[in-house]
Amino acid sequence: MSAPLPMPSAEDGELCVEAVRLADVARRFGTPCYVYSRAALEAALDEFTTGLSGVEAQLCYAVKANSNLAVLNVLARRGAGFDIVSGGELKRALAAGGDPRKIVFSGVGKSADEMAAALSAGILCFNVESAPELERLDGVAASLGARAPVGLRVNPDVDARTHPYISTGLKKNKFGVAYRDALDIYRRAAGLPNVEVCGIGCHIGSQLLDPSPFAEALDKLLLLVDRLAACGIVLRHIDLGGGLGIAYRNGAEPSVQSYLDPLLDRLRGRALKILLEPGRRLVGKAGVLLTRVEYLKPGETRNFAIVDAAMNDLARPALYDAWHDIVPVRPREEAPRRWEIVGPICETGDFLGHERMLALLPGDLLAILSAGAYGMSMSSNYNTRPRAAEVMIDGDEAHLIRRRETAEELYALESLLP
Ligand SMILES: *Cc1c(COP(=O)(O)O)cnc(C)c1O
Repeated sequence: MSAPLPMPSAEDGELCVEAVRLADVARRFGTPCYVYSRAALEAALDEFTTGLSGVEAQLCYAVKANSNLAVLNVLARRGAGFDIVSGGELKRALAAGGDPRKIVFSGVGKSADEMAAALSAGILCFNVESAPELERLDGVAASLGARAPVGLRVNPDVDARTHPYISTGLKKNKFGVAYRDALDIYRRAAGLPNVEVCGIGCHIGSQLLDPSPFAEALDKLLLLVDRLAACGIVLRHIDLGGGLGIAYRNGAEPSVQSYLDPLLDRLRGRALKILLEPGRRLVGKAGVLLTRVEYLKPGETRNFAIVDAAMNDLARPALYDAWHDIVPVRPREEAPRRWEIVGPICETGDFLGHERMLALLPGDLLAILSAGAYGMSMSSNYNTRPRAAEVMIDGDEAHLIRRRETAEELYALESLLP
């Protein structure tokens, strides 16, 4: 990806996203606040588009990584389709201007209602994850007088060598149909009257920094494609899921090209359209979480900086012990000290960063970097904390794309006993 986000301003070193100062964003919209860059989103998408030029391909952005309508709309306008995992995400994708014919529907627990909604919308493909799901889909399609386009999500049993919570392509994971059962289930699918077998897919995990497991998975899938063709089941597309990682911490990240090249090599000369479902790689670096220091509590063994963002806003540190760089919006001259960056929530796990060397005073603004993916979309209202505002920068303009919630909204659906 191009220049890191945010950038220091040329005049005084204060951090900016595109041409907008983060301090101005905080003044206008308050903190905590997610700030995204339209240019960074587009640049990340363009890396894939460029790498796939001349190839029959469709990018289906994984909506769960960041599902804000404005984010989806920016990507849809540039040709992206969507990978959805719920009826709610289907509605979002359509509300954001997504083309239903570019939508794939993944997930192990699709309900009959969700299937019906996606069939009526006319999506590209259902990534079916079990034999009973296939039966249900056939039934739902029959009741609507429709034919459901289907690809099986196959579990290729390759080790993505990532965090166990985000590894999905091992035998022990709940996702996809087992590799050795796939042929049988395809044969059954081919015999169902309301299902049209059109593809095959996999998704082996998230935040992969070594792209070789993707090629390993593709090899296994291609073996199946050939065996299926020998039985007269000819597939039109192959969906390799998402999972390409980003560098959260100084280390290198594989280029999109180095990820795509081994895949395209293997697919050359085959009449298979390639589908990809990148999530994190498209939005992760395009967003920061802006927060303000509320209190400083220097202590005997540790110094705590209590900020106004918390694990309900950004769960990744608490959930995966994930690292996010944390930088001051306006750097100070003073000598840095070691700080625990923590939120106001009543949990010891409520931290955003451990042992960060920073020169801080109360009221300072901090930017938590690479927070565009699995940030807002995994946020909660724990401790009855209204969710953060979201702002999209476009050149020298800042647009509010989700206003901050109010506490009243958080209990508006509840009622007292009579
Ligand atoms: C989560 C998910 C993705 C996106 O994963 P990233 O690591 O964000 O690229 C793609 N496809 C499926 C089926 C997923 O569950």
